[in-house]
Amino acid sequence: MKTLIIGEVVDNKLSSGALEIITKANDLGLDFEIVTVGSEESPNIGSETFKNTYMKCPENKLTLGTVADKLKSIIEENSISLVLSPSTYVGRDLIAFLSVDFKSSQVSNVINFEVEGESVTTSNSINGGESEYNSKISSPHKFLLIRPKSFEESQLSLDTNFDTVEITSEDPEVFDIFIEEKTGPQLEDSKIVISAGRGMVESSNLSLVQDLATKLNAAIGGTRAIVDAGWMPYSQQVGQTGKTVKPDVYIALGISGATQHQVGMKDSKYIIAVNKDEEAPIFQIADLGLVADTLSIVPKITENL
Ligand SMILES: Cc1cc2nc3c(=O)[nH]c(=O)nc-3n(C[C@H](O)[C@H](O)[C@H](O)COP(=O)(O)OP(=O)(O)OC[C@H]3O[C@@H](n4cnc5c(N)ncnc54)[C@H](O)[C@@H]3O)c2cc1C
Repeated sequence: MKTLIIGEVVDNKLSSGALEIITKANDLGLDFEIVTVGSEESPNIGSETFKNTYMKCPENKLTLGTVADKLKSIIEENSISLVLSPSTYVGRDLIAFLSVDFKSSQVSNVINFEVEGESVTTSNSINGGESEYNSKISSPHKFLLIRPKSFEESQLSLDTNFDTVEITSEDPEVFDIFIEEKTGPQLEDSKIVISAGRGMVESSNLSLVQDLATKLNAAIGGTRAIVDAGWMPYSQQVGQTGKTVKPDVYIALGISGATQHQVGMKDSKYIIAVNKDEEAPIFQIADLGLVADTLSIVPKITENL
């Protein structure tokens, strides 16, 4: 089945979401090409193993409508019937444009899919990851939004072997861009993630989490409860309405383990939880649980590392 994967440029290379979908596409032996959206000068997004077309957009324009028009032409000219995109802001916008263009519903929250002849069956996560449903798509064009971390990232080496299409248009202009400063290991990539919940008691105690994270070279996340309380920016929220992470080790400090939080971290390889309530739901998915007061045990763990 001829397939198009939508990627983005992140940190000057192909986004992890696209690399995850490439793994699955290779497993299924799909005949795929990639279109990558970005504005960097010469990103590392190419490969000898697939065709990549770089849609190079000006930074100061809202160009996704124009990019979608170009994608429409590529899909038509190359008889592509399956379009796969990571479920990011850019991916969701582009798939929305395309599904209208081709009069075909998008299928969201896909965590796995299989191809059978001309049909595609998907597994989709709903209700904050509590339930799944399967769908079978037989329309000529199929548009799938894939949840992050559904597949392992492909480890292929990337280069600058790609075609570039310069996007120029009369699209609306952007006047100001605010870029959030990022320091230290990032949630999506880190092998260890330490997340804090309301059980850290006060925002000032997040310094204890920071000390532990520094020792372990870990990224720091948090629950929606503490994000809503202003202890941490939204970009660090883990869960249904935040980020999905899948590190080797996830350490949950003072987190009850509501399903909306679990959906963003339950697939971590090894889960360690600290909570003073032995009935806390987080212990049901923890590999190692410590019934303890975060404020006394976290400094001790840090000290002993
Ligand atoms: C539509 C929707 C979307 C949502 N999306 C998200 C999401 O993306 N991410 C998310 O996290 N939540 C999300 N939520 C919120 C979620 O339901 C929970 O309210 C939230 O995860 C709870 O955060 P918490 O564990 O920090 O707080 P609490 O539930 O209040 O838990 C605090 C825990 O800390 C423990 N504790 C207290 N003091 C100590 C101490 N000194 N030492 C050790 N343990 C202690 C308590 O026993 C308790 O288990 C969403 C909710 C809805 C309705």
